[in-house]
Amino acid sequence: MGSVDPLLDTLGRPLETLRISVTDRCNFRCVYCMPKEVYGRDHQFLERKELLSLEEIARVAGVFAELGVRTVRITGGEPLVRRNVEYLVELLHAIPGLELALTTNGALLPQKAQALADAGLDRVTVSLDSVDDATFRALNDVDFPVTKVLEGIDAAAAAGLRVKVNAVVKRGANDDGIVALAEQFRGTGHVLRFIEYMDVGHTNGWRLDDVVSSDEIVAMIDAVHPLEPVAAARPDETARRYRYRDGAGEIGVIASVTKPFCGGCSRARLSAEGRLHTCLFALKGHDLRAPLRLGASDAELAEQIRGIWTRRTDRYSELRTSKTAALPKIEMSYIGG
Ligand code: SAM
Repeated sequence: MGSVDPLLDTLGRPLETLRISVTDRCNFRCVYCMPKEVYGRDHQFLERKELLSLEEIARVAGVFAELGVRTVRITGGEPLVRRNVEYLVELLHAIPGLELALTTNGALLPQKAQALADAGLDRVTVSLDSVDDATFRALNDVDFPVTKVLEGIDAAAAAGLRVKVNAVVKRGANDDGIVALAEQFRGTGHVLRFIEYMDVGHTNGWRLDDVVSSDEIVAMIDAVHPLEPVAAARPDETARRYRYRDGAGEIGVIASVTKPFCGGCSRARLSAEGRLHTCLFALKGHDLRAPLRLGASDAELAEQIRGIWTRRTDRYSELRTSKTAALPKIEMSYIGG
């Protein structure tokens, strides 16, 4: 279990976390992620045979674990629409030493939380951008009620899963609900994190003006419920953390636009069709499915991954310029955030 020496990239960053997208489909059409104009009825999603099977995913994850990965996060698309995703959790749980997390929009959590916990999932992150029902329905664009997601969060907690809530903030869309979101989760034990709106995939027309900075978000909450900073627990932590001075818990802000954090990035990303991306913004993935299906041994797969990671140079967010802004972007629904 686990290699002796950590695998380091060209900037000395270890490979610690693997994010696995299990589908490019989603039951929401969030306007900033999978707008209906692009992801309509005739959109070509990946075909079943193109997707890695659950067993193939688990095998690749096992190789990553041997290379030092300690956390696996299942994402999508919406991971809970992948049939039998609980079975994948079971397979991953059999790999020694892995912490298992899943990112979801929460819609199917009321039905699935217990099965996921029973299969060995440790924690969930639920994406929820507003607690105002009308705003939430407009953002998800499938008229999905916010109460159902809140039920999902309760179901996850009741099943014993640790819960985080992630909210993307877009100016003019949901920034008027920042304090209400904070108040919804103050005192619940669930950590709420705000994420700056990024220029990815189908956010055509993204403008810096649409980004509500982390500093602004912290100031808005601090004005009502005073906050103090909390020291980072790990060097690769993406969120800057704050605690309520009255002891009602913690929030975090992920400043991927205004204070990019490539320096500590220890994350690899595996797409649903088995392409390995070494950066959220890396358009070109490395195909692991072909060697997998051509009969490569675990040692051969490990060698390939080792080669990719040790040559890794990505620090897109830190290099973002007007030039990179014009380049094609990866879709969040493809790579899963
Ligand atoms: N369906 C799952 C979910 O809702 O969490 C997993 C995949 S989803 C693509 C992962 C996260 O990416 C969600 O929290 C979503 O809000 C976020 N996201 C999508 N587009 C974004 C953007 N342009 N900027 C910041 N976050 C974005």
